[in-house]
Amino acid sequence: TINGSRKSETPHDKLIGGLLTADFDEPSCVSRYYQSSLYSKPSPYKPSEYLVSKLRSYEKLHKRCGPGTEAYKEATKNLGHDDDNYANKSVGECKYAVWVAVYGLGNRILTLASVFLYALLTERVVLVDQSKDISDLFCEPFPGTSWLLPNDFPLVKQFDGYGRGDSHCYGTMLNNHAISANSTPRHIYLDILHDSRDEDKMFFCPKDQTMIDKVPWLVFKTNVYFVPSLWFSPTFRPELMKLFPQKEAVFHHLARYLFHPTNQVWGMVTRYYKAHLARADERLGIQIRVFADDAGYFQHVMDQILSCTQREKLLPQVVAQEESKVNASTNQKLKAVLVTSLYPEYADRLKSMFWERPSSTGEIIEVYQPSGERVQQTDKKIHDQKALAEMYLLSITDNIVTSARSTFGYVAHSLGGLKPWLLYQPKDLTAPDPPCIRSTSVDPCHLTPPSHGCDADWGTYSGNVVPFVRECEDREHDGIKLF
Ligand code: GDP
Repeated sequence: TINGSRKSETPHDKLIGGLLTADFDEPSCVSRYYQSSLYSKPSPYKPSEYLVSKLRSYEKLHKRCGPGTEAYKEATKNLGHDDDNYANKSVGECKYAVWVAVYGLGNRILTLASVFLYALLTERVVLVDQSKDISDLFCEPFPGTSWLLPNDFPLVKQFDGYGRGDSHCYGTMLNNHAISANSTPRHIYLDILHDSRDEDKMFFCPKDQTMIDKVPWLVFKTNVYFVPSLWFSPTFRPELMKLFPQKEAVFHHLARYLFHPTNQVWGMVTRYYKAHLARADERLGIQIRVFADDAGYFQHVMDQILSCTQREKLLPQVVAQEESKVNASTNQKLKAVLVTSLYPEYADRLKSMFWERPSSTGEIIEVYQPSGERVQQTDKKIHDQKALAEMYLLSITDNIVTSARSTFGYVAHSLGGLKPWLLYQPKDLTAPDPPCIRSTSVDPCHLTPPSHGCDADWGTYSGNVVPFVRECEDREHDGIKLF
């Protein structure tokens, strides 16, 4: 464990209740077996035995079908040659789901977990596009094989061009009647983005799944956490219930299984933790994401943060010096506040506020912000590494406040098994009232889910179709989440 950081006497459970395999060597990826030791309490969510056994069989499947195997060679042979596209001849025993990196890091983490769960449910092997900096961020998750899609994969050059107009795009194929139960292409492109068409979102319907199931290669570009919509399918649903009896913990388990920051990123997490957070009696995380054309410091956002944290008693008020309750003998509690934002001004103001005046409770408040780079620089290695380190640092706090509809915040709270206080999105440059709401679930929100329903439910809003999901607190009418 981190020196002196934990009072707990129980040795930490390296394999997280069997979620992780013991088949990796430790030094090459320290976070894999030590991440869980940073959390002050063990996770309240235990992986089911069924999930554990499913993951072990998945690992075997990945080894059998992964890059470099005979099965992979056979599956990729002549792939992309037009005359072979509809070949109903044997393409081997393995089927694949390829994840292509698009949008920011939070989006990427949520979608990779979604595609992985889909692969688990459909006995596919998940492979990740490595043209972006994924291997600077994460270790390999499956023992004795690789999840990186080889650079010479026949369709790699087409990834950038994949879009809705493409003849291999699922929605377009539906529109063109180019796919049916008895004509199966060798690969299709799935477009599961915030603004995808209804026909693309037909992906979630059971009948479509029957067709898609036969396609050996699926290539996904997605920026939404689509797990809640997988519960649509009557075939997936019983399986999902067995895998995740605690429904709101889907991402929490998947993320702890799949994502292990590289030693470089983990070094950033642990150094920061030891320097600033380890000694505190309590830790509060505040993630401030400003979605605006002219994003930066806004007084109404600052007001909103203060009003939320003080109303919810996450931070004390400040009082005049004369009102300070502290005398020489008072044993003062130390609370560390970890602020993450592209903008440094919010943390700076908090810092000054708690330096200039005493807190009403006598607590000592220290405020830290690891980086404030002002501009999003996705795909720049050190920028993405910092963003990832900050998500992990936020996940280690005791309480967390996050910004509405930010996937960065979703990853942080869900990874930590925390129910966040969600800051409502401000409208018209004013702080919303109430400023925030406590989430009822730790699972992330599926923004922009399908709005059409399937078959008999056609036209029904998905929030009313799928049991176990409800509308997201931070995104009414356009987001659903498991609870
Ligand atoms: P979302 O846009 O809030 O849903 O989150 P994403 O993670 O998908 O995209 C935002 C990107 O902006 C991040 O991946 C970072 O590159 C950058 N970013 C936004 N907020 C922060 C922050 O608090 N800290 C750091 N280091 N980077 C941030």
